[in-house]
Amino acid sequence: MNHQGRDVWCEACQTTHVARPCQSCKAEIFFALSHNGRRGPYDVAVVNVKGPTVGWRVEDGVARKQSGGQAHESHFATCPHANQWRRSRPPVQGGGS
Ligand SMILES: [Zn+2]
Ligand SMILES: [Zn+2]
Repeated sequence: MNHQGRDVWCEACQTTHVARPCQSCKAEIFFALSHNGRRGPYDVAVVNVKGPTVGWRVEDGVARKQSGGQAHESHFATCPHANQWRRSRPPVQGGGS
């Protein structure tokens, strides 16, 4: 498998994301762990989150829910081929505890 990505500095998160194309829609996404230890895809593009829209920012390596400001959207929400994501889950590595 070839999982090359490119490092993208993110102003919103103040950290670097490894951007790679979504295998379904080719949008640029990155993977991050959420607070419950699940790895999920997020849009590299940052949007201004407010109201009912939920956004995510990576802090200390963990994606945290944001209700305002500059944040990423979950790619599950924006991918036009999200159905395929559910069928073929990305492999989850490790999981010590
Ligand atoms: Zn970010
Ligand atoms: Zn996609």
